[in-house]
Formats: sequence, structure tokens, C-alpha cells
Amino acid sequence: MIKKISLKISMTGMAIILIFIAIFFIFQKSIGLSIFERAVNERVGVDNLSSLPDGLHLGLCGTGSPLPDVGRAGPCNIVVAGKQVFVIDIGEGGARNLNLMGIAPATVDAVLLTHFHSDHIDGMGPMMLFHWTGGATSPLPVYGPSGVQSIIDGFNAVYKIDNGYRIAHHGEKIVPPSGAGAIAKPFTMTSESQVILKRSGLTITAFKVDHNPIKPAVGYRFDYKGRSVVISGDTSKSPSLEHAAKGADILVHDSLQPNLVKKMTKALNDKGLASTATITRDILDYHASPEEAAQSAEIAGVKQLVLSHLVPPIPSRYFYPAFLGDAEEYFNGPIIIGEDGMLFTLPANTNAMKHDRLM
Ligand SMILES: [Zn+2]
Ligand SMILES: [Zn+2]
Repeated sequence: MIKKISLKISMTGMAIILIFIAIFFIFQKSIGLSIFERAVNERVGVDNLSSLPDGLHLGLCGTGSPLPDVGRAGPCNIVVAGKQVFVIDIGEGGARNLNLMGIAPATVDAVLLTHFHSDHIDGMGPMMLFHWTGGATSPLPVYGPSGVQSIIDGFNAVYKIDNGYRIAHHGEKIVPPSGAGAIAKPFTMTSESQVILKRSGLTITAFKVDHNPIKPAVGYRFDYKGRSVVISGDTSKSPSLEHAAKGADILVHDSLQPNLVKKMTKALNDKGLASTATITRDILDYHASPEEAAQSAEIAGVKQLVLSHLVPPIPSRYFYPAFLGDAEEYFNGPIIIGEDGMLFTLPANTNAMKHDRLM
């Protein structure tokens, strides 16, 4: 008897589930429209920067490298100091991530480039476009060592025709011609490190790094109200970075795990792709390994190490220990493997550190 009743209940339950599934597909169009409308209302115009406390904030808008990675955009970092917003390197997908993180590209005061490898600049086009169409009335300032002028001249030339289309379509009031494109702000490195910008309590210092044969190549240090963030750019283990990063709250360091890259080189060779194998072998000498980044973090006495510009692409978190190798043996503080959308908050004049996700 009990068996019969429970069989009846489970049959009824099954029928109800099937009816719900049928409704879900029969009304797929109208359900889709209504869910979409709600999501758009929730997400459009979101400004995640406005609610941040006074302090220094680091966002990761791209933790990947030139190698294809579905979960990571090309190199891109965002540093917010009070109300000032800077993007450091703008790899492919970086500007798209800023939007997904609820950070309007139009609020960005300037982009800073560490060097001109294509993976650090190939998101510049969308960055300039979103900056302009988001309401900017003057071009996006782009700071960089000598050479940045020709990079920006090139991007402006490439986007000139598109700019004309946008103005013709939306009108000068919506997209004022004065706000299109970018403007280069070159600086020359005359010493190992030098201050390139000082404004409203923020000091930005550029320092040389070792990315031979790529020259110039720099990293940046941000100091604001007793807090500090250092972005390495691309470098092998570099004494000048260790000097510039002294006592910083956060060091973001590029990292390449040779044990994993060597497996790629072997697989490429085994498949007769010797030229590509040569490239994966060559890149070993101008990026730090996670172990070397950890050693630099320890020497500099930083409080937290964030690994970014990850080579090779890591398919999931399961592979993080294989990527880290022995890094944790060399650094006393926490090591975080960077993921797109992470946000680190350093409130002004404190020792506090908060870790959040914006996507
Ligand atoms: Zn590079
Ligand atoms: Zn790179």
C-alpha cells in the first residue's frame, strides 16, 4: 500500500517537472525577454568605483598572456587612487573586462604602458573607443617610455575612419570629435627609476625592468596615503624591481612556469612544429618564474604577491599548485594567482587589505 502511494507521488512529481520543462521551452521567447530586461536594468550604468573608500585599489582586468586563454584577457591592471583612475597595459579583452567589472572606461584618467609588446597594447582600440563613446571630451592620455608616440599615432590613424562613422551616425553632441582617440605622454628614462606623475596625494614612479631584448621596459609603483601597489610589467627576476618594490603592500608580478612551458615545447617538437617550439623555448629567458617572483617579493619585503600575465594558460584552479611549483617556499606572505575581475582594496592610512570580485 505504502509502495503504491509513493509510486503515485513520484509519478505526479515527475509529471509536474515535465510540465514545467515544457512551459520553459514553449514560452522560451517571452521568458528570455523578461529575464534579459531585468538583467539589463540591474547592470546598465553600474559604477563600482563610486562606492570605494578613500585609498588605493588594484583591479585585475586581464591576467593572461599572448597565448589563447578563454578565462583570461591580455595583460591589464587598474589602479584607483582616491578618485584618480589608471589602467596599466591594455591587452586584448581588457576594455571589455572593465565594462564587465562595472568600471566605465570613460572614467579612466590615463593608460600607462610598461612596454610595447603587442599583447600589452592590442586592447588599445576598444579602450579608446569606449573612453570616447562613454562621454570623454578629450583624448585618452597614454603614458609610456620613449616610443609611445608612434604607438598612439598608429592607433589614431587606424581608428580615424571609424571615428568619422561614429560622428556621422550619432552626431557631434553625443560623440564630440575632440574626445576621439588617444594622446601620447612620453617620458624618457634617465635613471633606474623616476617619478613620472604627482597629483592629489598620488605619486607614480616608473622603474626599469629586465625584459631583454625589449627596451625600454618599465614597471610602475603607485604610492597614495601610506599605501602602495607595484606592477612589474614583463621582466625576468630584476634587482631594480626588488629595489623599487621595497615594502609595498601588493606586488603584481608576471610569471611563467618553466616546468609547464617545457612540456608545451616538447609537444610542439613531437608534432613537427619546430618553429613554434623555438618561440616557447625563447620566452623562458625574459619572464620570471613563480619561484623567482616569490624570491623578489621576499627580498623587497612586500606584504602580498599577486601573480599575473600567466604563462602558459591554466585550464582550471586544479592546476594552480602545478603552476606555483615551489614558490611558496620562497615567500613568507600570501601568494595569489590572479584572476580576471579580482579587486584588492587598501584603505588610506591603514594596514587593512580587502579582497573582492567584480565579475
Ligand atoms: Zn613583453
Ligand atoms: Zn607580455
